[in-house]
Amino acid sequence: MKKLSIILFSVMLTLSLLVTPAGAAVMSLEAGTYSGNGEGMNGTIEVKVTVAKDEITNIEVVSENETDGMTDAVFEKIPEDILAYQSLAVDAVSGATFASKGLLAAVTDALKKAGADVDFLKNKKIEKKAAKKIEDRTTNVVVIGGGNAGLAAAVTASDQGADVILLEKMPMLGGNSIRAGGAYNAVDPERQKEQGIEDSVERHFYHTYTGGDKEGKIKLIYTLVDNANKGIDWLESMGMGFEDEIFTVLGALWPRSHAPSEPVGNGFINTMRDQAEKNGVEILLNTKAEELITEDGRVVGVKASTEDGNFEIRASQGVVMAAGGFAANVEMRKKYNPLLDEKTKTTNHPGATGDGIVMAEKVDADLVGMEYIQSLPLGDPKTGSLKGWAGMSVENYIFVNKNGERFVSESDRRDVMTNALIDQPDSFMYIVCDAHSMPAGSKNSFNETIEELVAKGKTLKAMTIKGLAEKMNVDPEAFAQTIEKYNKAVETGDDEFGKTLFDKKLNKPPYYASPRVPTAHHTMGGIKINSDTQVIDTDGNVIPGFFAAGEVTGGIHGTNRLGGNALPDTIVFGRIAGEAVVKNSPAEIK
Ligand code: ADP
Repeated sequence: MKKLSIILFSVMLTLSLLVTPAGAAVMSLEAGTYSGNGEGMNGTIEVKVTVAKDEITNIEVVSENETDGMTDAVFEKIPEDILAYQSLAVDAVSGATFASKGLLAAVTDALKKAGADVDFLKNKKIEKKAAKKIEDRTTNVVVIGGGNAGLAAAVTASDQGADVILLEKMPMLGGNSIRAGGAYNAVDPERQKEQGIEDSVERHFYHTYTGGDKEGKIKLIYTLVDNANKGIDWLESMGMGFEDEIFTVLGALWPRSHAPSEPVGNGFINTMRDQAEKNGVEILLNTKAEELITEDGRVVGVKASTEDGNFEIRASQGVVMAAGGFAANVEMRKKYNPLLDEKTKTTNHPGATGDGIVMAEKVDADLVGMEYIQSLPLGDPKTGSLKGWAGMSVENYIFVNKNGERFVSESDRRDVMTNALIDQPDSFMYIVCDAHSMPAGSKNSFNETIEELVAKGKTLKAMTIKGLAEKMNVDPEAFAQTIEKYNKAVETGDDEFGKTLFDKKLNKPPYYASPRVPTAHHTMGGIKINSDTQVIDTDGNVIPGFFAAGEVTGGIHGTNRLGGNALPDTIVFGRIAGEAVVKNSPAEIK
């Protein structure tokens, strides 16, 4: 949906900002208001820029179509900075590079029309304030990271009366959690029974344990699967909705995936953020945890930094590390898996740089399974993002390579499917589905309607198999045969690639194909914890005052994480961490 946002900034500036060191005025503009366009992640960003003869005075964002929540900071901070510094050399908002670049391009376009020397403005240095020491703080619990795991820990600890400060280094909450498709695996007799799906906690355990080649720790896995459904109850008790229909997200191996009623990760993040705020949790954005403070082997606080300076926070009860994984840190990725170099794109937000693991290592925390990094066969060929494809449940789509052929079971493990995709021509494929999966007006997990996907060119559409083959640029005969064989397998249950989960034949036009490539997704290794989320050191002892939850931890998923198991991991272990940090601490709650 096209979003109209009008953001108006009027900043009175002293003339000194507009003057070179030699004292000469540098801007000579044709006073007036000018329109400009730039390309963001999801289309054109339009601005109106008002200038006086030597000053940019207003930037109005007329229309943009970027992702809510993730890019709000772009449309506030960048205009503010441009006006404050009268420069185009302002920083992009990390986590929203495409939107930032699009907005800067739009303002540049408008300024060109106003006669500005844009090369000069792009190179005009910005003097930043030097870091200084700011006031230290004390609290009961510090949580590092504002994704699902951190928010679940913060809500739970504050529910029990603890004062909590949550540090988030990015300008917005959400991390990878807000980018996830939202699928949440849980054995849920009530919903599953409605669809005739048989399941049990033992079966979920079995899939998770064997799906990760039995490398996951039994107690951690059991804790995960046994508490997953309670996590849904907990989220629902705070007002979050889940759809009744259960599906099988890619790589889940069984239909037990729940879809939030609110799309993308927003449902999780908004629900827990609202509750955290109600509970009085202090959320500090743009605040980066740099280092843990220890005393006599106990973690007692955190050193943090902001644009305004550095400070320390003492935490009388302990610190919960929930800073996420490292799939966006190419150097760290290569250290543990050299194949995942610069050429591999990632689904991750740019803040997924493994800071939590580095900080934990410095206090002697043990790490487990660092080499297990999950890639997905679902990346947008341009950005690596998980967004932009059509298809919902594994049962109703197939993967087709450039020869028009299938090459793997679409109900297999994620690592198996990605490795198979890597071996295809140009490591490229289409996900092919039909109107069974995507009826008119339906949306994918990212709230994108099928019509939008087609209009944006993300998904190809045709009324016939032949027509789709032409658009995909694959051999129509080979493709027609592929569909025919697949439809037979749906009938007989006997598939040449061993697919085991089927629903409908691919025979209901319109037909859709979305191009996809491999993309680095989830780092399964990380900080070693016990099932109480206490961090374990390299000698096998608990580090007092130190807890960890979510993607920053290792040892749960083994070599391969099941699709849909990451979100319950963050909620289940985030809640345990929030409880454990309060319970296990020797310090008194105020
Ligand atoms: P999880 O799914 O485990 O909750 P996410 O990726 O969703 O992980 O969230 C982790 C959050 O931690 C991200 O929002 C990320 O920006 C934040 N983060 C990472 N490193 C730091 C740090 N050094 N200080 C504060 N926040 C951090």
